Amino acid sequence: MIPLEEARRRVFGDIEALPIVEVPLAEARGLVLAETVAAAEAIPPFANTAMDGFAIRSADLDGASESTPVALPVVATVAAGAVAPRRLGAGEAMRIMTGAPIPDGADAVVMVELTETAEVDGAETVHVKAEVPEGNHIRPAGDDVVEGTPIFGPGTPLTPATLGVLASLGRESVQVHRRPRIGVISTGDELVVGPRALKPGQIRDSNRPSLLALLEEMGAEAIDLGLKRDDERVIETSLRAAAERCDAIITSGGVSMGDFDFVKAVLSRLGEMNWMQVAIKPAKPLAFGLMLGTPVFGLPGNPVSSLVSFELFARPSIRRMMGHPETERRHVVALADEPLRRSADGKVHFQRVRVWPDADGAWRVASAGGQGSHQLTAMANANGLAVLPDGDGVDTGARVRVLLLS
Ligand code: AMP
Ligand code: MG
Repeated sequence: MIPLEEARRRVFGDIEALPIVEVPLAEARGLVLAETVAAAEAIPPFANTAMDGFAIRSADLDGASESTPVALPVVATVAAGAVAPRRLGAGEAMRIMTGAPIPDGADAVVMVELTETAEVDGAETVHVKAEVPEGNHIRPAGDDVVEGTPIFGPGTPLTPATLGVLASLGRESVQVHRRPRIGVISTGDELVVGPRALKPGQIRDSNRPSLLALLEEMGAEAIDLGLKRDDERVIETSLRAAAERCDAIITSGGVSMGDFDFVKAVLSRLGEMNWMQVAIKPAKPLAFGLMLGTPVFGLPGNPVSSLVSFELFARPSIRRMMGHPETERRHVVALADEPLRRSADGKVHFQRVRVWPDADGAWRVASAGGQGSHQLTAMANANGLAVLPDGDGVDTGARVRVLLLS
């Protein structure tokens, strides 16, 4: 067996960021910026009002109060998207809507709630019932982004809000690392898909849907390469085709010591593979290498093993391909809410657990269910993997490192 960190070094050493391409903003979600974006414009581009109300001169409201309102003629209305027809004069008010530009001559906005309007001699007059300071409710130009300043650099993940800022700057496309195309193949004669009754010996393919979903969720393009029989020719044909169209391939099953582990046979022939026995549980066997230049992750078949293996090896690799500077999930240190038992076997165990903050904000951790590598429901109920070093586990109250799964 080799230590986890040694196995991870072997895998990550063969992984590079994908080429930089220009993509439309609408296709960039979840990708990582590969350029420095400087603000070509200020945001907001002009001083505008944060409130519906009246643009005024603050000095004109001196002494205004509930009992002694100041009356000002309303000389114009400025809607969002419009501009004032003229300069605001002393002793005047203009009705103004949120987002509309502040008229020249005005230095503050009084919100509509502090006013009452009335017709006086056929002209509209506003009665303002409070003083307001200069600049009141005015959002100055460049208050969010100053024109000319760099705002995002290479490595910035394109989150919804980041895409919003880019859109406010008028950007239609951005330079990013290409979205990785990751193919997923299930192998096994025992596997079937769908609701039809199982024949003796059959189970349903659960790895492929889980792995495809994990890939989609992390912003990769997940390519379903289907379920393959344990047949050397079938597996070779699909792996060759996959190497052509994918940036990486994930297989599950067929890499252990069984008589029908043909993924192992094919990859040994076509690829420069590393067959590893990693000192972890679950997910001890791992095949990784380059097949016809394409990285291949040969994950174990047991459902929990394949997902844990994905977390420890495939996810950080794919994040590296995407150009993420931070490739790892977060860890927290949590207090065991119950004993977390294991047996000594020379491996680090990754137990499926639930972590939550207690009333004092301290993390707590408890088992998420059965810990067999076939017991996928505990993985489904887990939001973390407790990292238990070799030994017999921990007692209630012990400090445990937990890898967060979300
Ligand atoms: P293998 O690595 O092919 O020897 O498979 C190990 C175990 O995982 C066996 O019990 C398989 O039936 C099971 N298994 C393999 N692939 C899948 C899959 N795609 N979905 C669910 N179970 C699987
Ligand atoms: Mg198999």
